[in-house]
Amino acid sequence: MSQGIVGQFHALKADSDADLVAMQCGDFYEFFDEDAECVAAELELTTSTKSSGGESYPMAGVPVSELQPYLTALVERGYTVAVADQFEDDSGDFYREITRRVTPGTLLETADSDAQYLAAVVAPAGDDTADDSGPYGLAFADITTGQFLVTEVADADSAVAECYRFDPVELLPGPAVRTDDAFLDAVTDRSDAEVTLHTTDAFAPGRATHAVTEQFGDETADSIGLDSALARRAAGATLAYVAETGVGVRQSMTRLQPYTADDHLTLDATTQRNLELVETMQGDSDGSLLATLDHTETSPGRRLLREWLTRPRRDHTTLDRRLDSVAAVASAALSRQRLQETLGGASDLERLTSRVASGSAGATELLSIRDTLALLPDIASGLRDSELADSPLPGVSADIDRDAAADLRDTLDDAIVADPPQTVTQGELFKRGYDDDLDDLIDQHEAAKEWLDGLADRIKQRHGLTHVSVDRNKTDGYYVQVGQSEADAVPDSFSHVRTLKNSKRFVTDELAEREREILRLEEQRGELEYELFEALRETVAAQSALLQDVGRAIAELDVYCSLATHAAANGWCRPTLAEPGTLDITAGRHPVVEQTTEFVPNDLRVDNDRGFLLVTGPNMSGKSTYMRQAALITLLAQVGSFVPADAATVGVVDGIYTRVGALDELAQGRSTFMVEMQELSNILHSATDESLVILDEVGRGTATYDGISIAWAATEYIHNRIGCHCLFATHYHELTALASHLERVGNVHVAVANEGEGDEEITFLRTVEEGATDRSYGIHVADLAGVPDPVVDRARSVLDKLRSEKAVEAKGSGSNKPTQAVFDLSAGEFRAADNGMDSDTPATTEMSEESDPAVRSVLSELEATDIDETPPVELMAKVQQWQDRLADADDPQH
Ligand code: ADP
Repeated sequence: MSQGIVGQFHALKADSDADLVAMQCGDFYEFFDEDAECVAAELELTTSTKSSGGESYPMAGVPVSELQPYLTALVERGYTVAVADQFEDDSGDFYREITRRVTPGTLLETADSDAQYLAAVVAPAGDDTADDSGPYGLAFADITTGQFLVTEVADADSAVAECYRFDPVELLPGPAVRTDDAFLDAVTDRSDAEVTLHTTDAFAPGRATHAVTEQFGDETADSIGLDSALARRAAGATLAYVAETGVGVRQSMTRLQPYTADDHLTLDATTQRNLELVETMQGDSDGSLLATLDHTETSPGRRLLREWLTRPRRDHTTLDRRLDSVAAVASAALSRQRLQETLGGASDLERLTSRVASGSAGATELLSIRDTLALLPDIASGLRDSELADSPLPGVSADIDRDAAADLRDTLDDAIVADPPQTVTQGELFKRGYDDDLDDLIDQHEAAKEWLDGLADRIKQRHGLTHVSVDRNKTDGYYVQVGQSEADAVPDSFSHVRTLKNSKRFVTDELAEREREILRLEEQRGELEYELFEALRETVAAQSALLQDVGRAIAELDVYCSLATHAAANGWCRPTLAEPGTLDITAGRHPVVEQTTEFVPNDLRVDNDRGFLLVTGPNMSGKSTYMRQAALITLLAQVGSFVPADAATVGVVDGIYTRVGALDELAQGRSTFMVEMQELSNILHSATDESLVILDEVGRGTATYDGISIAWAATEYIHNRIGCHCLFATHYHELTALASHLERVGNVHVAVANEGEGDEEITFLRTVEEGATDRSYGIHVADLAGVPDPVVDRARSVLDKLRSEKAVEAKGSGSNKPTQAVFDLSAGEFRAADNGMDSDTPATTEMSEESDPAVRSVLSELEATDIDETPPVELMAKVQQWQDRLADADDPQH
């Protein structure tokens, strides 16, 4: 048999594509061989040894009842686990079969309250490589809540952006996508998704359509307008995969929700990250917009808030309804508090529904459902009898079938006892009056137990004994225990079973008879109650759609309360929505920075006449913050939230696009210039005249001459061709001249104090003013950052020289010979410096110095230094060394 067991394990393992196999052996699930070692190492279990076929194998096991937490832990560590249950065949032999496969996207028992999406992506190409310019079909299913969204998007970038938005834990790439490494890398780079290569058959159009209609019916699939064949293939493959893993939640996947990009604001993956919507650039959730705004009382509320923040909308109807709701709740503090208190008592109905549908919910979970349903009347009356009555809030739960909800609550209330046991197979779950047969059994059971309860007293009385008790244990069953001193006085009908130190145990025929009866009744009761419980659970599962409606309504109310709480506590205002082309913010703030800083509010005004602002100012003065705050205020308005400002009119945009400075990216360890240009290219391709574009430094990752040219050209392109609103922070002060060439371009700068008195002592004022700065304060920041004084001093003198020339030094590409390029402010372009430059200009001086071998060697080292690759301290040391060498070369004494 033992040989059989490890042999069976290996056979199951060969059959399954799971990483690990947990095989039931009686009361344990065992892992063998290398799986045992892996599980033991991951979960700190001890291994024992199993002999099998003359060999020894490591073995690690967990009790059957404790498998779930181990499965969860293994899956959360990235393993897929196949569970093989034990069955008995007709001849009484045991065999095992895989009944379930647990993967990150099909894990039901998760402790994490975040959404857990399983994504499927289908590209149209029938050949081996995905056509990344073609449309993509996407499906996102959260089996723990029954959420199931599908869409079709235009191209690979949009598909990546959607994946980033949903942040799936598992990804099923379709046939063309699975060979598209660039796509898979892009998704896995930005999420922790496990990529699962599910059988390509599941993605075939016929099969997938069948799976969708089987789940949702012909009409549903048609009536919801799922007319994208690609989206249907993604949806069908997802359903097939979920069914195949055996998690059994299809009943809770009650509806398919197709959505189109037209309803939503486009937020590419980079922008979602740059705006730190759900996590900071460093990957922390603290300090994100979500964490700042989150005052929700429930997990579903928190999930919905995340969904809203990452998927802002464009349609005024939805946004007006949300804003009206937040406005009403914001101004009704007491009613809001009461509502929040009520919501605080709600359980995660969406999750509970999935557990009910999968058959894993116990009696306590059904009671949580009952208690949450019981909140509905309170919620409804709280809304109806308050100043919220005329707001859209009562409408949130208007579509819920209240009678069905009340019936279900009553059914559960009539069924389950107050404090039911965890197991559902041992009885004692149901109240009296729920089922006549059960009541009969309970009566008999209780009568038998009463008889037992009175037995000791009856024996005492009848036989004149004092030390008598009746009890039960595993080995002896029910017994009568009599004190040692009286043991000889028991009647002959008592047969002795055991002698203890101070007492003896006996049984009687009658007791044995009663014992059999009690065991029979207990078994019958357990079986009947389990049957009744399964039927009850089925009844509840059949109401999955209702429960999800209730759960969703509670989540929505929770989000309104959360947004209103934050708005009221932080003095936010209701934005006025307008047509694209306007953004008018009075005293705007950055929603996250204002939490931790004495924030200086700023105005922002862009419209169709002046829609492109060049933002200049010293480093660290607040340019990024100013631009991000504009993006976040626009985004929040399109979430339906109040915004951090005294007043704001927000033209609804179709997309927000951002790219942030190469220096920030450098800190992330990403390659700089290529990424920067890819992001710029994406923006230039995707933005429309109804978009908002935020550019925080462009062209920094390359030499000045290239960089400024790219920034210049991008500005012209956005201004002339795209015509969208754009805020562009740049340290190329030369660009500010564009305001006089391009009619919609304006200049603003972040002000500093002591401006006229050199950069030694400046104070950041954080106020944004009209016009351009004429200076860069980088050297001041270098000084603040502790760059050694000689370097700072030398930098100042170099800067003075450069300023006096208004020239930018650059190197002609492809030539080792440095040339001088002069930026002609009036023409707004570069021109090569005259060859016959004044011989006393520094540039020419430098050229002549070039003949000095010491200068040449410094120059060639300078040229060879890769700034991206050299640590700052080393870089400083090098600069200092070069300066020393140049100083020596200058000094004829040396
Ligand atoms: P820049 O983009 O000009 O280098 P940042 O926007 O990164 O500057 O801002 C630099 C620092 O100033 C940040 O720490 C930020 O918190 C703070 N800051 C920016 N704007 C304001 C403001 N309006 N009020 C108060 N602090 C601000």
